[in-house]
Amino acid sequence: MVKDVKSYSDKKFIEEYTYTGNDLGATWSKDATTFKVWAPTAQKVELALYQSGTVENEDLISQSVMTLGDKGVWELTVEGNLNGTYYTYVVEHDGETKEVCDPYARTTGVNGYRAMVIDLASTNPEGWDEDQSPNTGMQYTDAVLYELHIRDFSIDESSGVSAANRGKFLAFTEEGTKTPSGISTCLDYLKSLGITHLHLLPMYDYGSVNEAKLDVPQYNWGYDPVNYNVPEGSYSTDPFHGEVRVKEMKQMVKSLHDHGINVVMDVVYNHVYDADTFCFNQIVPGYFSRWKKDGTYSNGSYCGNDTASERAMVRKYIVDSVNYWANEYHLDGFRFDLVGLLDTDTINEIVKTVHEKHPDVIFYGEGWSLPTAMEEGFKPATQVNAVETPDFAYFSDDIRDLIAGRNGENLGYVSGKADCEDMIGECFKAQTSWCPKPSQTVNYVSCHDNYTLMDKLRIAGPETSKDDLIKMNKLAAVIYMTSMGIPFIHAGEEFLRIKEDETGKKIENSFNSSDFVNRIRWNCLEDNTCADVVEYYKGLIKFRREHSALRISTAEEVVSNVKYKKIGDGVVSFNIKGEEELLVIFNASEDEQVLSLKEYEIKDGNWKICVNGECADLAEEVSGDCVSVAPISAMILVKA
Ligand code: CA
Repeated sequence: MVKDVKSYSDKKFIEEYTYTGNDLGATWSKDATTFKVWAPTAQKVELALYQSGTVENEDLISQSVMTLGDKGVWELTVEGNLNGTYYTYVVEHDGETKEVCDPYARTTGVNGYRAMVIDLASTNPEGWDEDQSPNTGMQYTDAVLYELHIRDFSIDESSGVSAANRGKFLAFTEEGTKTPSGISTCLDYLKSLGITHLHLLPMYDYGSVNEAKLDVPQYNWGYDPVNYNVPEGSYSTDPFHGEVRVKEMKQMVKSLHDHGINVVMDVVYNHVYDADTFCFNQIVPGYFSRWKKDGTYSNGSYCGNDTASERAMVRKYIVDSVNYWANEYHLDGFRFDLVGLLDTDTINEIVKTVHEKHPDVIFYGEGWSLPTAMEEGFKPATQVNAVETPDFAYFSDDIRDLIAGRNGENLGYVSGKADCEDMIGECFKAQTSWCPKPSQTVNYVSCHDNYTLMDKLRIAGPETSKDDLIKMNKLAAVIYMTSMGIPFIHAGEEFLRIKEDETGKKIENSFNSSDFVNRIRWNCLEDNTCADVVEYYKGLIKFRREHSALRISTAEEVVSNVKYKKIGDGVVSFNIKGEEELLVIFNASEDEQVLSLKEYEIKDGNWKICVNGECADLAEEVSGDCVSVAPISAMILVKA
C-alpha cells in the first residue's frame, strides 16, 4: 500500500486524476439517478442496490458494473425513481474486492454501512426555503458562542423534554419545557441567555455509538467520523431509515434559527474513526490518510491516523463537504477539531468558497502544533501560522490557561496566581504571541474537554469557600466576555456545572463517560445560587452585545482604542475608547480596591457602573471620583 501512496503525489497522477466536477455521489431525479465515484486505481467498480439500509439484511436488488470515464471517475445511471433505495460500491483492486459506502453519501442506513439515494428537497421542513441565519451581517467578533453536546442537552428528565425526544435532534424543537418546579429549560433557556451561536459537538455520522442498540444507554462525544456528509443516526428517532436523520437535523436547525440562534457544527476532518476501513481509503487505497516513511499512519491526532488534506482529491472532498453542510443544512459556522493537521490552502479554500454564498459563516478551530507527516510545500493551519488564514480564528489556550490555570492543580489569575497582570493585558488586547487580530482569537476558559471551570477551580483551591469559587467563576467570565476576540461559553459554566461520577470523582476527559457524568442537570436552575450566576452571564452577554467598543476586529483598532494599566497586585484596568468610552477593571486580589478615577474625567452622573461583582446588568451613577471594586470581582463603567 505504501508504494501506491507515494505515487499519489506524482505530478502525473495529479494531472491525470484530479476531478473537479461537483457531481460525485448519487445525483437523484425522479426519472433516474446517476452514481459517480472517484476510483482511479480500481480495476473494476460495481454498484449494488439494496432494499434496506441494514447490512445484515440479504436484500440485494441488483449489482451492475460501472463505466470508467474521465479522471478516474466511474459512473452509472439507473432509470426510475430511486429515492429511498440503499446502495454500496463493490471495488476491485488486484483481484481483491471490497464493498463500501459512498464517501459522498447524503444519508445511510443504520450505522452507516449502506448509503441511501435521497430526494433532499423532500426532507425540508416547512418554511425551509425562507430559512436563513437569524444573525445576518455579524462579524466574527459579534458572535457569542455556546458549546453543547446534543445528548447532554436533554437526556436528563429535569429537561422537561418529552421522553421520545430526549437526547435527540428534536429536543431542540420543543418550546415551553420546564424543570419540575417550573423554570424554563432547553430551547427557551438558550434563547433567554442571549447567545448568538450554538456550537454543537459532532453530529455527522460517527462510529462509537451502536445505532442498532439505542435501548441501551451509550455515550460518546463523537470525535470518530465514519460518514462525513451524513447526520449521526443515534440523534434521530429512527436510525434505520436514512431520510429521518436528515429531516430531523434540519428541523433542529430551523427551530434554532426561528429562535434567533445560529448553529455551528463541530467538524473533525483531521482523522477518521478507522483509517483501514474508512470508505475513501478502501476505494482509493490509503489515499485519504498521511503515511510516515516507515509505512505506518502518521498520527499527530493521537487517534490513529491523520487526514492528507494536501492531496488534491482529499482537499476537494473536505471543501465539498463543508459547502454541502452550509448549503443543504443552513449551518452558520464550523469549528474544526485539530485544524493544525490540515493545511492552510485547504482552510482558505473552504472559507473562500463558503463565503461566496454565505458571507456570514464563521470558522474557527484548534490550532495546536502537532507532529504530522504533511507533504513538503504545505503549511499547517496552526496558531503560529494564523496570518496565513486571515478569516479563520483559533482557540486561545493562552487566555484559558491564564485565567483559570493550565491544569487542574495550577492557579490562574482569578485564583490568585502572582505576577500575571501584563499577560492579562496581552490576552485582553488579543496581542498574544501568535494572534494577528481580535477576529482570529476565540476567548474561553472552559470547553467540553478538560475539567469544567468549577471543577478546575475546586481542584486548584481545595480550601476555597464556595462563595469565593463563585466569585472566581464570575470574574473569569467577565474577562473573556470583555476581551477583544470571540467569547466562547462551555454549556453549564454559567450554572456551575461539574462532572463527577457516582463516587464523587471529578472527570476531566468525559468523552465516553455515562450520562450521569455528562448530562445537563436542569434542576440546578432551581438553586438560587446557580440562578444568580446565570443572571450574571446573561447580563454580561447583553452588555457585550450592546457595546461595540468590545467587538472591534482589527489590531489597529486595538492599538488606538484600548489602553491597559496595571494598578496593583492582581488589579488591572482597560480604558476603551470606541463609539463610547468604557473602563474595565479586574480585581483578582482578596482585598477591596478603592480606585481614583480623576484621570478619566469623572463628574457626578457622567459615568455609570454597568457591571460589578454582584450584578452584570446595572446602570448605577458614580458619585464622587472614586469607585470601590470588591475582592475577586470586576467592574465595568461606561461614560454617558
Ligand atoms: Ca453513527
